[in-house]
Amino acid sequence: SVRVRFAPSPTGPLHIGGARSALFNWLYARHHGGQFIVRIEDTDLERSSRESEENILNALRWLGIDWDEGIAVGGPNAPYRQTERLEMYRQLAKELQERGYAYECYCSEEELAAEREALMAKGELPRYLGRCRNLSAEDKAKYEAAGRRPVIRFKVPENQIITINDHVRGQVEFESNGIGDFVIMKSDNIPTYNFAVVVDDHDMAITHVIRAEEHLSNTPRQILIYDALGWTKPEFAHISLILGKDRSKMSKRHGATSIEQYEKLGYLPEALVNFLALLGWSPQGEEEILSLEEITEQFSLDRVAKNPAVFDIDKLNWLNGQYIRNYPVPKLTKLAIPYLQEAGYLTEEVTEEKLAWLEQVVAIARNYISYLQEIPQHVAIFFQDQVKVEDEDAKEVLTWEQMPVVMQTAATLFAEAEELTEDSVKAIIKAIGKQSGLKGKFIFQPLRVAITGRTHGPELHQIIPVIGKERTLARIYAAMQ
Ligand code: GLU
Repeated sequence: SVRVRFAPSPTGPLHIGGARSALFNWLYARHHGGQFIVRIEDTDLERSSRESEENILNALRWLGIDWDEGIAVGGPNAPYRQTERLEMYRQLAKELQERGYAYECYCSEEELAAEREALMAKGELPRYLGRCRNLSAEDKAKYEAAGRRPVIRFKVPENQIITINDHVRGQVEFESNGIGDFVIMKSDNIPTYNFAVVVDDHDMAITHVIRAEEHLSNTPRQILIYDALGWTKPEFAHISLILGKDRSKMSKRHGATSIEQYEKLGYLPEALVNFLALLGWSPQGEEEILSLEEITEQFSLDRVAKNPAVFDIDKLNWLNGQYIRNYPVPKLTKLAIPYLQEAGYLTEEVTEEKLAWLEQVVAIARNYISYLQEIPQHVAIFFQDQVKVEDEDAKEVLTWEQMPVVMQTAATLFAEAEELTEDSVKAIIKAIGKQSGLKGKFIFQPLRVAITGRTHGPELHQIIPVIGKERTLARIYAAMQ
């Protein structure tokens, strides 16, 4: 059965690209009824941190991407953090050495740099040419005595064509001669990525390696290690880069890059996951708003594009807006409350009664936003006691000759009203028209400016019941002054 994994290096927060890789693996596992594993690749001791690891795991959880085995949940191949699996890599590196597939190399940084420069000067690929391949015991002893610690390099065979039948990229070939003997164990006895990833993918019985295109050039090295150890190789699928709308590499200029930032801005995980799925994968039909269940059902690597995915923040905003407008209001209100508190609109504890009222506010304001951090900008009319008329066109309405009669009639009718509902407000507005003999904008604009301070916005019959009788009247009286 299918076993796939997400293997982040905990060197920073979870980014859009990593989240997309995790999601594609998760979708592949769920579509095929397989397992999804999360493994932490923390062999870069300097750049890795537990803080980043937590950030990544929390971001996955927030997105709704769960895992069957791995870090934090355990499983048959525990531990799932590479620094806790060092014994296994050391053993296998020793085995490779004993069988002649790897050797100790004592070259210093300076010697390696000089070799690279010499090759580049000749127009050749910089690579390690194997100077330490055949060191004698005395050579080694000399280096050791001089205080050098060896790395272990993999002996790359000559004149070999390494072929990858990639699920996304098709058949890709690499010449072994261009690779150069590469390091599998560093001098501190910590494995490199290329070695540890093979050991773990094999140990965890991974069937499909689905990862970013940037790792394609690592794959021939990994294949050589599989072959040397006599292990079955997984299948590979390298998914395309994510570019900005201007076709340059995705960066902060194109929008927030970490998942955590989207969470903070008040994007909905369901929308973000939908958006991430469309970064390189396309559904069969025209419909792009798809639930995770629908995407899971449709997902296949055949529909993952070879060309780069384009990150379009406007599209994400549009998509998120759609999700916001279709979200259950009580759930959305809970999510909106922190933003309203932050903006100073909710200073006291939110009572049941207040919550019910907030739900009405959110149900209206959500029509004007792309993400929840925008919500405070659209709720002022519900919270203020008095409105401020600042727009020029709204100020002009205040000078209309129809203004006084509309206010007079409205004041009387609203004062008489028992309960304000959408229907009763509609009826009152109709009655204002009848009693004043005015029509259309000559009623609506004066009312709207008096009650909201603006000449446009949500339907009056929607907002007046939420603003309530007392405040509506207060605003009408204020406009009469
Ligand atoms: N630790 C690697 C990364 O974060 C994983 C690459 C892979 O999936 O093999 O890029």
